[in-house]
Amino acid sequence: MNNMSILNCVLIFIIIFLILILMNLYKKANYISIVIDQILNGNLNQRIRTQTHVKALSKLIVNINGLIDELQKVQKKSNTIEESRKRMISNISHDLRTPLTSILGYIELVLNDSNLTQSEKDRYIKIAYSKGNYLYNMMEEFFQISKMDSNDFKLDVKEINICEIVRQNVLLFFSEFKKINIEPELNLEKDDVYAVADEKSLNRILANLINNALKYGSHATKIGIDLSCDNDNVFISVWDNGPGIPKEDLPYVFDRLYTVEKSRKLNLKSSGLGLTIVKKLVESLGGNIFVSSIPFERTEFKFTVKQNLRKL
Ligand code: ATP
Ligand code: MG
Repeated sequence: MNNMSILNCVLIFIIIFLILILMNLYKKANYISIVIDQILNGNLNQRIRTQTHVKALSKLIVNINGLIDELQKVQKKSNTIEESRKRMISNISHDLRTPLTSILGYIELVLNDSNLTQSEKDRYIKIAYSKGNYLYNMMEEFFQISKMDSNDFKLDVKEINICEIVRQNVLLFFSEFKKINIEPELNLEKDDVYAVADEKSLNRILANLINNALKYGSHATKIGIDLSCDNDNVFISVWDNGPGIPKEDLPYVFDRLYTVEKSRKLNLKSSGLGLTIVKKLVESLGGNIFVSSIPFERTEFKFTVKQNLRKL
């Protein structure tokens, strides 16, 4: 073989080699395109499962798979949001219908029943007014929750004396405690404790929890607030020794519009949004909230707030 034919052989070999590489790349591109088509058709569990020594292509595959992972997460989240939106709309319409029907009923009575005395009319108008107020408050709470959901609310987070906040909130309920003849038990730390939090949110959290203890701990003889801390967190418990919450209801008390059957019958002014707001506020401050209940011993809502050790 002369030099020329050796060169020809090498060239032919290189050309065949390049053709094989190109065919392989074409096959892979074709496979990737088929997988992407399947994904676009809704099969988000599909992934590109092929290996290649071409660095750029292998990086492209990793990136595409990463993108599909993200897409799948976003879709899962949006499905959950959609489900909870549907559930919420059906709950809201149900919960709004009841007081609204009753408001309309009373107004109709006043308008149409000519036999009513003035004092009966006044009484019905007052009932309708108070139910209207209840509806108004409920709408306000829904508005708050939707603001929180869309992150459309601002926290003014700074160092605050949390013991002072607890004392102030208990004072706000002074007359309610007096009415049921309970002296609230405050077990705070010896020295003041400082937390990093938004004062308004903390007030709202405490007011909601104290209000619940007063409202549902109807047979309670003790209501109290404990405050303790470790290096990172402040732990605040609002507790009572009232009838408590049945075990099967405990996982749901933070859900929107959830009211325990028993208390729903007792108290018409409950919207079941208080604890949902409390949980959202605690979480937006970087904390957690837990509930536990041993009837007539201790029903406790315990939440955490980030602590800030005071720099002396
Ligand atoms: P709202 O606070 O919006 O007026 P609500 O008090 O019914 O309405 P939540 O504060 O979310 O709603 O409470 C949910 C349910 O949890 C209540 O309906 C009640 O049944 C139960 N619950 C809450 N706190 C206590 C408690 N300390 N003891 C017994 N049950 C409680
Ligand atoms: Mg409440």
